[in-house]
Amino acid sequence: PPDKRVILEASGLSKRFGGLLANDDVSLSLGTETGKVTSVIGPNGAGKSTFFKMLAGFCTPTTGKVRLFGEDITGLNPHKISARGLVRTFQETTIFPELTALEHVALARQLSRSANDFQVFANTLSARRDEDRMRADALEILRFLDLDGVASSVAKTLPHGYLRLLGIAMGMAASPKVLLLDEPYAGLNPDETDRAVELTRKIAASGVSILLVEHDMKAVMKISDHIHVLYFGKKIAEGTPEEIRNNEQVIEAYLGK
Ligand code: ADP
Ligand code: MG
Repeated sequence: PPDKRVILEASGLSKRFGGLLANDDVSLSLGTETGKVTSVIGPNGAGKSTFFKMLAGFCTPTTGKVRLFGEDITGLNPHKISARGLVRTFQETTIFPELTALEHVALARQLSRSANDFQVFANTLSARRDEDRMRADALEILRFLDLDGVASSVAKTLPHGYLRLLGIAMGMAASPKVLLLDEPYAGLNPDETDRAVELTRKIAASGVSILLVEHDMKAVMKISDHIHVLYFGKKIAEGTPEEIRNNEQVIEAYLGK
């Protein structure tokens, strides 16, 4: 029987888009130790986002299986998967210009606790009754991420770097056990990147396992406990940052000299 202690295990995941094999028999395990940062790297088009989408239920694998704490979650919808603790962060498309940062986090929390649209509605009503507690929960998440300073700012006034962090805060609102971050540092300046890397570390240190796709190799090498490399849909290597940095095949395919 599958080991319930294994946090996340993808086995033999493939995804075909017509004639293109975007993922070809990709396997990855997060093992049993919580709070680690695991990265997936590779050139553009290697299949990293497709892999994440399959894990989180946004796209159905052509073949293969995903297990979360030993339970088969392959093909479940994103909402069900998120309710079991595997959460993909919100993208900027899920940001509402007129709502405050606090409202975004409170909304994400309500959505994560609702099984369907009717329940979203019911929860929104009860949340109104429970507004103080909802606000307190949301504020606590913002505080943890050092974002409480912008809690009452409306999204349209926030700089790009903050919107990125707000997306992570909305992911945290779902109380994840595993958090998937797809290029969270894209478009950030070096200071913002440093800050976002620190926050990623802080989230991991709180016991959340992080799975990260990121092009900023300096950040990846600094933050990762373990790295997997995708190349044309196939996994070509995995190891510690040190091992990956010195892997000839990875240098040739991706890192360069
Ligand atoms: P990465 O995130 O590593 O840049 P992606 O997973 O986004 O790569 O894409 C891998 C390959 O799959 C690319 O060639 C891309 O064009 C293709 N692809 C991704 N999504 C779709 C889709 N919905 N339909 C057809 N092709 C897709
Ligand atoms: Mg991508």
